[in-house]
Amino acid sequence: MFHQINDDKTEWKDKGTSITQTGFRMFIEGLQAKGCRFLTLADLSPDKAEPRNVIITFDDIFQDAVKNAIPFLVEKNIPFCVFITENYINSENFLTSQSIQKLIDEPLCTIGFHTKNHKLMRSLTRKELGEEMECNDFEKLVGRNISFFAFPYGSLYACTLKSILRAKRKYTLVFSTVSIPCSKRQLQKVPFFLPRINICEGNYRRKLKEIRF
Ligand SMILES: [Zn+2]
Repeated sequence: MFHQINDDKTEWKDKGTSITQTGFRMFIEGLQAKGCRFLTLADLSPDKAEPRNVIITFDDIFQDAVKNAIPFLVEKNIPFCVFITENYINSENFLTSQSIQKLIDEPLCTIGFHTKNHKLMRSLTRKELGEEMECNDFEKLVGRNISFFAFPYGSLYACTLKSILRAKRKYTLVFSTVSIPCSKRQLQKVPFFLPRINICEGNYRRKLKEIRF
């Protein structure tokens, strides 16, 4: 899981979720050197839960991710998923309408939803939860059905059972930010709070070293 990718660290909103362009490239090339396989979300099934298999995801969708990371993946023919916050589109630092069109046209890109306004799910009423997770307008905008969802903040604290059950009604795979590998059992039994490993400048070297098959 990635957020911002920017060599200019003064642009980082949160250093715990940001990485330099150099770090990003080294991490992806490190995964390749280890023999990892890059899957798309549509390929994800319980039998694919093994350390060698990797899915690259981005959240919120900062314009720097579009500019500094995605062209590198496309050049390497590596699939990826973007979890877009609908009302971030065309706001400062986030993806533009033009970028979204590029993502729509990119066959390597899977588009997922990351709520309308990136609110803390725990603080919302049932009605507000429904409104935040509803993606009819977003589906019209991108011209496809959306089956994948990632919770804003995404921790066990941020996401109540009520929000998980709500997400389950609409989406086939739902992601948290619990930073551990995804198990076969989770994919089989509860694909509505799937973990993702946060990669940032401070941990990418260590995370690469930890990968063993
Ligand atoms: Zn987010």
